[in-house]
Order: sequence, then structure tokens, then C-alpha cells
Amino acid sequence: AENRRESLMIVSGYAAKFFQDSMWETDEGKAIGLSYFKERGFTTETIKKFELGYSPDQWEAFSAQALKEGYQEEFIVESGLSVKRDNGNLYDRYRGRVMFPIHSYTGRVIAFGGRTLKTDKNVPKYVNSPESEIYHKSNVLYGLNFAKKAIRDEDNCYLVEGYADVISVHQAGIENVVASSGTSLTVEQIKLIGRLTKNVTILYDGDAAGIKASLRGLDLILEEGLNVKVVLFPDGHDPDTYVRLLGSSAFKKYIDDNRKDFILYKTDILLKEAGKDPILRAGVIREVVESIAKIPDSIKASVFIKECSRVMQIDERALLTELNKMRQAKM
Ligand code: ATP
Ligand code: MN
Ligand code: MN
Ligand code: MN
Repeated sequence: AENRRESLMIVSGYAAKFFQDSMWETDEGKAIGLSYFKERGFTTETIKKFELGYSPDQWEAFSAQALKEGYQEEFIVESGLSVKRDNGNLYDRYRGRVMFPIHSYTGRVIAFGGRTLKTDKNVPKYVNSPESEIYHKSNVLYGLNFAKKAIRDEDNCYLVEGYADVISVHQAGIENVVASSGTSLTVEQIKLIGRLTKNVTILYDGDAAGIKASLRGLDLILEEGLNVKVVLFPDGHDPDTYVRLLGSSAFKKYIDDNRKDFILYKTDILLKEAGKDPILRAGVIREVVESIAKIPDSIKASVFIKECSRVMQIDERALLTELNKMRQAKM
């Protein structure tokens, strides 16, 4: 099994090199792939660091080359780089896409995300590697290999949604940044962060749907005993577009000025939504106390109870009673 894993990592590393060469060394790659990344504001240094590349817009460019170089079909297919046709021939999964290699904790290539350059709504924006023996997407955070040292040093981890967000924020000098890349955050991913720091700052896209959907997912982070802060971006922006708009130092200042504790942020959003309706407000209180009940540290939890009692203008003792009920229900 170790041999199989190693073979898969070797072919993935080869593919990363193939996509890089296709971008830097061919006319198509330079004109389409490289210029796309440059237009996104990525520097040469950044493009090389993240090993970004381009997959030629052909059906068999990678498959044929990999077989010719002696890589075994079994591993080429299991890695998801190529797909087997009914007639036994291989074709390339990634065609005419810019390529983002996904690295293991130690920096080996284990998967890819490929972004289309078309604006056609019927074409999926990103195609990602399937699960394999070396790639379990629920256990991987994009960018962690580049971020781990900075996460420890800064004692904080920024969590963003996409590949481009990681890269742009990193390029702006904020290196303690990772992405869950499309999947909603998993417990395994949170545990990966938790080994390096107990502080997570969420920088999610500024679209209303995303924000609402993230509220529940973030409770998972509280359950793991991490402190969660949230920064909101103006509607339509994500960290990538916003850091490019503001520049590095104004972006940092924006984050520092707009960092909000997750529980208070959640309280705010839900209260605004509930308006004056007393029944809806009672529901909000219960939901917020539910989040607080997930904090393992009871001293920390009681501090939040105090703050929420102030924000919601509810008697602190009533909140504590509710908290204790929920704690008991959980046991
Ligand atoms: P870009 O800035 O390149 O347009 P993004 O990262 O801002 O992309 P979002 O639509 O915000 O893209 O999605 C966030 C992340 O979700 C992506 O980086 C990618 O990892 C994942 N994702 C998005 N669309 C898809 C898709 N169609 N299939 C699989 N994963 C996807
Ligand atoms: Mn989004
Ligand atoms: Mn984006
Ligand atoms: Mn986005």
C-alpha cells in the first residue's frame, strides 16, 4: 500500500511538472494560461511557488506523454489525471484549464484543481481530482504546506473559500492562510488547524448565501475548542478581489478593524433577521446559546453568555439556565 501511495505521488508530481512546462514553455500555455494568472495579479514568484500550470486544450496531451515516459496506466487513472474510455484508451481529465496543484502537509502534490477559462455557465468552473489513496479531500486544506509555519508563528489561521483567495492573500504577505476548497469544513480539517493554533479567522466570500450557510458549519470549530473570529467583505467581494482592490496594507488594516467574534457576529445576523418579533427573537436566543454550549471551556462560555446578554438585552441568569439545560441534554 505504501508503494501504491508513493507511485501515485510520483505520477502527480510528474503531472504538476507537465502542466508547468505546458504553461511556461508552449505558445498556447503562455498566451492562455500564463497571461490569465498575470491578469489575476499573480507574480512570477507566486506562480512558481504554488506550482501553477496549464493543461493543453487537447484530449490526450498528458495521457500520451505520461505513458510514453513509462508511468503506469493504473496510477495515471487512479490519480484521476486520466480517464479510461470504453475502448481502453485514456483521455485527459483536464483540458484547457489553469491548474492548481494541491499539496500534502509535507508539500507533495496529491491532487489538482483545474479552472476553466470559459465563461459558459454550463462548464463547471473548477474540476477537482477524485478521491484516491493519496487524496481524501475532507483531510486536506489547500495551502497548509505553505502556511503551517506562519500559522504557528502568528498563532492564528485565516480560513478562506478558494484557491485564488489563498494565493492572493499569501502574495500580500499574509502567509497563515488556507482554504477548505469548495467542501464545507470538516472536523478533520479543523483538527489539522488545531494542532498549530487555537485561533481561526474566517474570511469567507461576501455573498449572503455563503454567510448564512456558514453559520452552522462554524459551530464545528467551536466544538473543537478553537476561538473563531469572522471578517465580512463587501457584497460581491472575496478575499482575492478585495486584497487586489485595497492593496496589502489597507487589506490588513481592514481585517484588523473588522474582525468580529463569531458568536457575536452570529447573534447580530440572526437578531437583525428576526426583527422585533418576540417569538423569532426567542428562537435566536436559543440558537446562540446552542452555539455557546458547544464551547468546551466553561469559563470562556460564561464570558460569551455575559456579552450576549448585553447584546440581546436578556437577563444573564436566564441565558445561563438555558445553557445548563443544553449542556445536560448533551450528556
Ligand atoms: P475564482 O476566483 O477563480 O473565480 P473562487 O475560488 O472565488 O474562484 P468560488 O466560486 O468562490 O470560486 O468557489 C470557492 C471554491 O470552491 C473554489 O476555489 C473551488 O475550490 C471550489 N469550487 C467552486 N466551484 C466548483 C465546482 N464547480 N466544482 C468543484 N469545486 C468548485
Ligand atoms: Mn463563493
Ligand atoms: Mn474568487
Ligand atoms: Mn470566491
